[in-house]
Amino acid sequence: MNDKRLNICVDIDGTITSPYYFLPYLNKLLGTDVGEEEYLSTDWNKVFGKEHAPLFKHFDELCPESYDVADLLEDADKYINKLAESSNIYFVTARKKCLYERTLLWLKNNGLEKFKTYMLGHNNKGDIAKDLNCDIFVEDNPENAHNLAEAGFRVILMDTKYNRELRHDNITRVNSWKEIYRIIQDLGYN
Ligand SMILES: [Mg+2]
Repeated sequence: MNDKRLNICVDIDGTITSPYYFLPYLNKLLGTDVGEEEYLSTDWNKVFGKEHAPLFKHFDELCPESYDVADLLEDADKYINKLAESSNIYFVTARKKCLYERTLLWLKNNGLEKFKTYMLGHNNKGDIAKDLNCDIFVEDNPENAHNLAEAGFRVILMDTKYNRELRHDNITRVNSWKEIYRIIQDLGYN
């Protein structure tokens, strides 16, 4: 048993939300029909086609309501709140600041309102992980996870169709928040 409080950074999209909730909105906007099975990369150019690129960057302004309907991953609220009894939890997302109020409301509606939330607007999470003395980063995005792992952070990777290729000594792949909780418990800090 160790008294240290772990600093746990937690991504939002695809880590505490369902990974594919925005697909219907994006398909409607682009006039495409990409299903979950085909969503094999976080690079929208690859998945939807480069010809749609001009619309990608306006998605947040054109479809902000998509963020409201995101389903919480099973028991994410329960296990994050349990972890918070003996760890510091920080939400660290690449979402843009224009989604701040929406995101806070969603977190509140899902029982996760009490944690500090950083909305970076970009995918470089290494600096903030360092600033927060991050011990564990829970992430789904393969590029972010790889970069964090390369920088020496321990990453717990929520398994998705678009990150299945990723392997790294600092990355532990999981399928549920129950599993994440068990892994962190096994470290002996809780
Ligand atoms: Mg994510």
